[in-house]
Amino acid sequence: MPYLRERKQFGTAIGDFQGMQHQVAQLATEIHAVECMTYNAARMKECGLPFVKEASMAKLYSSQVAERVASKAIEWYGGVGFTEDIIVEKFYRDCKVGSIYEGTSNIQLQTIAKLIAQEW
Ligand SMILES: Cc1cc2nc3c(=O)[nH]c(=O)nc-3n(C[C@H](O)[C@H](O)[C@H](O)COP(=O)(O)OP(=O)(O)OC[C@H]3O[C@@H](n4cnc5c(N)ncnc54)[C@H](O)[C@@H]3O)c2cc1C
Repeated sequence: MPYLRERKQFGTAIGDFQGMQHQVAQLATEIHAVECMTYNAARMKECGLPFVKEASMAKLYSSQVAERVASKAIEWYGGVGFTEDIIVEKFYRDCKVGSIYEGTSNIQLQTIAKLIAQEW
């Protein structure tokens, strides 16, 4: 976010372009959604409610959002984002594991589908 204020193109901070602001709004919304999903799954567990479907949804969606956010962060840095000089490329590589460990994304989908089928 500081870079969006710092970097100027066409005489304007890139964060002042509406096209950039809409992307920030979209990702902030997705981050908020995964926070809510995660806390909701934890709340359900604490209350002794069945929580596996909600936890699976939170894990699946969090890993997808992490990839999208890290990918966008690279784009927002422009060409320099593609280099190892800026840490966002490491975040992009690191977050990929979220779709693999602790149950791959395919397995989360399998779990969610199975529990939905049981509900109906
Ligand atoms: C950095 C890292 C840390 C890890 N830490 C731990 C740890 O601390 N403890 C631990 O026990 N394990 C750990 N793991 C292992 C991790 O849990 C497994 O890599 C993961 O469960 C996937 O298993 P696999 O690698 O055998 O892939 P595979 O099971 O071979 O999966 C390969 C692909 O096939 C898909 N697939 C497999 N079965 C199905 C199916 N039934 N339906 C649809 N698609 C399917 C998968 O989704 C995936 O896309 C770690 C892995 C990494 C990368």
